Amino acid sequence: MPNSAADLAIVGAGPAGLAAAVTAADLGLSVVLLDAGRGPGGQYYRSPAPELGAERPQALHHDWRAFASREERLRAAGRVDHRPECHVWAVLPNNDGWTLHARAAHDDAPTTVHARAVLLATGAYERQLPFPGWTLPGVVGAGGAQAMLKSGLVLPGRRVVVAGSGPLLLAVAATLAAAGARVPAVVEAAAYGAGYARSTGTLLRNPAKLIEGARYGAALARHHVRPLTRHAVVEAHGTDRVEAVTVARLDRDWRPVPGTARRIPCDALAVGHGLVPELSLATSLGCATRTATDGTVALALSADQRTSVPGIWAAGETGGIGGAQLALTEGELAAHSIATSLRGAPGAEATARLRRTRNRLRAFADAMGAAHRPGEGWTSWLRENTDVCRCEEVTAGHIHEAVEELGARDPRTVKLLTRAGMGWCQGRMCGPAVAALCGTGATPDRRPLACPVPLRHLAELPSETD
Ligand SMILES: Cc1cc2nc3c(=O)[nH]c(=O)nc-3n(C[C@H](O)[C@H](O)[C@H](O)COP(=O)(O)OP(=O)(O)OC[C@H]3O[C@@H](n4cnc5c(N)ncnc54)[C@H](O)[C@@H]3O)c2cc1C
Repeated sequence: MPNSAADLAIVGAGPAGLAAAVTAADLGLSVVLLDAGRGPGGQYYRSPAPELGAERPQALHHDWRAFASREERLRAAGRVDHRPECHVWAVLPNNDGWTLHARAAHDDAPTTVHARAVLLATGAYERQLPFPGWTLPGVVGAGGAQAMLKSGLVLPGRRVVVAGSGPLLLAVAATLAAAGARVPAVVEAAAYGAGYARSTGTLLRNPAKLIEGARYGAALARHHVRPLTRHAVVEAHGTDRVEAVTVARLDRDWRPVPGTARRIPCDALAVGHGLVPELSLATSLGCATRTATDGTVALALSADQRTSVPGIWAAGETGGIGGAQLALTEGELAAHSIATSLRGAPGAEATARLRRTRNRLRAFADAMGAAHRPGEGWTSWLRENTDVCRCEEVTAGHIHEAVEELGARDPRTVKLLTRAGMGWCQGRMCGPAVAALCGTGATPDRRPLACPVPLRHLAELPSETD
């Protein structure tokens, strides 16, 4: 079993983990950087598969330089042991720090890493709100469409409606249109003007974000893409794959306004309602959580990115959804904090500067989260026979029965009664929807293993008495 020891183990090589790794190495720490993906960059800086031979991978990205410079430092830094395709399934305490257990994707071999400190930079996944027809082929996640294009250089269809909520939709629609897809509409459930009006000061303190939004707006106008705010796709139609969607205007609570429904033909739908922090490792360690302004559960972090568990830090989307620039800043801030904690490395000036940037970007993220938080009326898009848990084919009707007739009051009881959340994705897709149908807010995700693990890996673990 390959073992290694380091000052710092980082889980996740997205913007947060990558920035933390090169900064910590510069500050004199030995670092192991583990990531489930093939190359560094995470969701945002996702590169095309090497065998596709893309000549200009940066063409699909915004701010590629921020990634390229850090990737170069990663390759040059002798102190960073980068382990791609290595999925960490548990982090356990040992006598002088932490043991990380991982499985390697290429040969399924178990890997263990010992470290004095751990940084969790595990990112996020998409929030899906179900509606009739959402399981049809051709309906993909909005971020998923972006990922298909960035890593596989393929479009989900020729005529793609982009829908859901959040600024990611603008980026997705602009990229799809630039890559040659027709985008008949970008359908946003929130109202940009009213949603952001309460946060004018925060917006003005983040001019780069406003310019980024304006750039996407201009790109969409160039491609004649129609943005529809306060609207939602409430049904997808088709037999073998999606052929059209029904779009309706929404009231303030996201209930469809009667008489406003109309069909838009398409051969793909890219839909997502924001992102959900990936906290499997953090919650299994007992890290404290908070409810973020977008309604998701995120980690509660100190001013220098510490979790509530001594020795465990977090950065990026684990502390709340906020974008790549915030993730880069938090990664650097966490690295400084960890170096100070382990080595007493001085860095008060850099830390103060990073904190100011982090606070400004986090305030923007909070405003964005509040503006795009799903309204309670979205559940009226469902029919009794709409699948909510697509892995286990549990319908809205089954969940209503569990709640209204069998007395379930929380997602866990619904899961025991209906199997919702017991499938391959372990509730990552249906979790927010099941919680809403139970009438509870999102609850922290608790699972002992962060991904499926072969039994032999568990059998090879030393027993507590060894
Ligand atoms: C599908 C998708 C597409 C997106 N596309 C865009 C986009 O085009 N534009 C944009 O502005 N934002 C996009 N985002 C938002 C993006 O997530 C963030 O802005 C940014 O990448 C956050 O950086 P991060 O480092 O916090 O997390 P991420 O970039 O998500 O990186 C987290 C990394 O952790 C790894 N990981 C997670 N768990 C484990 C584990 N247990 N073991 C090992 N590795 C693990 C993942 O493989 C991943 O590489 C997208 C998000 C998603 C989910």
